[in-house]
Amino acid sequence: MPTYQYACTACSHEFEAVQSFSDDSLTTCPECEGEIRKIYSAVGVVFKGSGFYKTDSAKKPVSKESSTPVAPAPAAPAPKAD
Ligand SMILES: [Zn+2]
Repeated sequence: MPTYQYACTACSHEFEAVQSFSDDSLTTCPECEGEIRKIYSAVGVVFKGSGFYKTDSAKKPVSKESSTPVAPAPAAPAPKAD
């Protein structure tokens, strides 16, 4: 049974609820009966959205400069090889 994490938008109370996939999502906070939202965490949930990919692509040129995962080219006289 998957465990879902919820957070109350009214009182910030956070709690977990074990529910089956067929169960309805909880909607009210057990503390204040306010509105709660489900927190998706590490259950194979992928953060889909253009923002994520935007960030990813924006990072690429930076990571290429800061860290070089592949072996650097053999010592060349000019830093700009082709
Ligand atoms: Zn609450």
